[in-house]
Amino acid sequence: MKKIKLPDLIELPPLLDPWDQQEASGADATGIYEFYRNLAEGDLTTTKCRDCGKIGFPPAIICTNCLSDNLEWVRIPEVGELYAFSEMRLGAPMILDQIAPFIVAIARFGDYPENGVQMSGMIFDSGYDELKIGDRVKWEIIEIKGPAERKRYWYCFKKV
Ligand SMILES: [Zn+2]
Repeated sequence: MKKIKLPDLIELPPLLDPWDQQEASGADATGIYEFYRNLAEGDLTTTKCRDCGKIGFPPAIICTNCLSDNLEWVRIPEVGELYAFSEMRLGAPMILDQIAPFIVAIARFGDYPENGVQMSGMIFDSGYDELKIGDRVKWEIIEIKGPAERKRYWYCFKKV
């Protein structure tokens, strides 16, 4: 069997590196800079359509329901419900394979689907056997440690 060795560090082309979007200079390019700015300020937000009321995640620049670009930023309710989860033990993407096993989950926040969102996220401080569908979970902003000069933020879920 032929074996290949993966490099320790892979430089992603700009299109595959979402982190440029969190720079103010990327605001014009993506239209979702505010999502990253809000994350850095401790808030998890998404976009809601002012015309039809559709709220979705991830944030968008055009409503996926009515195609309007008349969107506003709204805060995602802090506590939601665990809808599905699984434990990633093998085959995690690069870098994440260093922290496996971990839980990947889908949770619903707010009054989904009319006035809420369904999101995927990771759970770090609960094991698979400690979780069950329907558990109350909250989102939490985390700082991503990595080889970057700037601070990077994301979110995870935490069992309440
Ligand atoms: Zn709409």
